[in-house]
Amino acid sequence: MTAEVSAVPEVLRHQRQLAGREEFCFACHPGVPCFNRCCADVNILLTPVDVLRLARRLDLTSGEFLDRYTLAPITKDLHLPVLMLRMEEGAEKRCPFVGAAGCTVYEDRPWACRMYPVAMAVPPARAGVEPKPLYFLFEDDFCLGREGGRNWTVEGWRADQRVEEQEEMEADFRELVSHPWFIGGRQLDPKRMELFFTGCYDIDTFRRFVFDSSFLQRFELEAAAVEEIRRDDRALLRFAFRWLRFALFGEPTMTIRKASEP
Ligand code: SF4
Ligand code: SF4
Repeated sequence: MTAEVSAVPEVLRHQRQLAGREEFCFACHPGVPCFNRCCADVNILLTPVDVLRLARRLDLTSGEFLDRYTLAPITKDLHLPVLMLRMEEGAEKRCPFVGAAGCTVYEDRPWACRMYPVAMAVPPARAGVEPKPLYFLFEDDFCLGREGGRNWTVEGWRADQRVEEQEEMEADFRELVSHPWFIGGRQLDPKRMELFFTGCYDIDTFRRFVFDSSFLQRFELEAAAVEEIRRDDRALLRFAFRWLRFALFGEPTMTIRKASEP
C-alpha cells in the first residue's frame, strides 16, 4: 500500500485500485438479476450539488430536503461535516428513491450513484502538492454487473455517467475540503463548521443570509454578480464556496466595503 493509499478512507483500502487507463468490465440495466439490489442499506455521501439537484427535483427547500432525507454523522475523525442519504426505516433499509422500475430520481441521482462501481478518494492536502484523485473498483458480491457488458476505463465511465459537469461546479468545494489550512490536523471551531454546512448544503438558508441581512452592505459585489446569485442557484452555490474561503480561512476572496470597516 502506498503512502497515498494509506490516506484514503477505510472503506476503500481493501478495494482494487484502478490505475491510469486500466479497464474494468461492467453493465447495469433493468435485465440484470440483481436490479435495484444496490439501492438499499448503502452509505451514499451527498455533495452540495447532489443536495441542490435533489431538493429542486422534489420541489423542496434545501432545509426540508436535509430534514427528510439526510443524516449528518458526527465522529471525532471528521474535520468537516459530511452528509449521507438516509435509508428508509425497516429491515431492507431501502433508498427512499428506489422504485420497481429503478431510480425515481435517475437524472438527478447523486454523484456516488453515478460513479458506482467506481469510487474516488482525494488524498489530504500537502504543502505545494495538488491532490490527485485515486480511483477504486467496488467488487461487491451482490452486484452481477461485472459478469458481462463492456470494458470501461475510469475516464470512459465518468463521461458516460456525466459526472464531469457536476465536478466542474464542485471544484471549489473540493478545494475547500482539501484546503492547506487543514494541514497538520487543524480543526474548525463549531461556529465555522456550521458556516461550512450552511454554505455547502443549505443553500436556501444561505440565500437568506445573503439577501435578508446586512451582507450586501458589508461586502463589495458588482450589481451583475448580485443579480446572478439572486436568480441562479448554481451561481449562489459557487458564491457560497468563494465566501467560505474568506470566512473559514481568511483568504481575500471577498472585499469588505470601506464604510463597514471599523
Ligand atoms: S438515489 Fe437512485 S441510484 Fe442512488 S441509491 Fe437511491 S435509488 Fe439507487
Ligand atoms: S448490476 Fe450492480 S449496480 Fe446494477 S442494479 Fe445490479 S447491483 Fe446495482
